[in-house]
Amino acid sequence: MNYENLLAIAYEEAQIGFEEGGVPVGAALFDADGNLLGRGRNRRVQDNDPSVHGETDAFRKAGRQTNYRDKILVTTLAPCWYCSGLIRQFNIGTVVVGEAENFEGHLDWLREAGVNVVEMHDPHCIALMKRFIKESPHVWFEDIGECDQHI
Ligand SMILES: [Zn+2]
Repeated sequence: MNYENLLAIAYEEAQIGFEEGGVPVGAALFDADGNLLGRGRNRRVQDNDPSVHGETDAFRKAGRQTNYRDKILVTTLAPCWYCSGLIRQFNIGTVVVGEAENFEGHLDWLREAGVNVVEMHDPHCIALMKRFIKESPHVWFEDIGECDQHI
């Protein structure tokens, strides 16, 4: 599987989110053959809805799936607790992480549950998120639930 091609879709979503003034995290869900099932992006700002993360958006857009063990969730940034919970709840087999530098997430917690975690260390994902955190720190810390410590 060429994970770079899959990550390109998630990154496209992150870029759209950035241009919309939102938190630039994009994600997409694929089947075992790499066919796209759903794609989405964080829309906390756009929709005034803190429950729409990139991963949950892509997951919902993909609709009902009978089995997630053979599915691939691709996200531009390491998943937060909320999205990590979704991954474990539905037993998603593979998670491709664009980067875990700006936010390290809980990748070991996913691995412990048998999730195949693929880290891409993608420079485009790193740069886009870095820029966003620098320009809109309050929105970022709100998104990861740490606004108390930073405002
Ligand atoms: Zn999340």
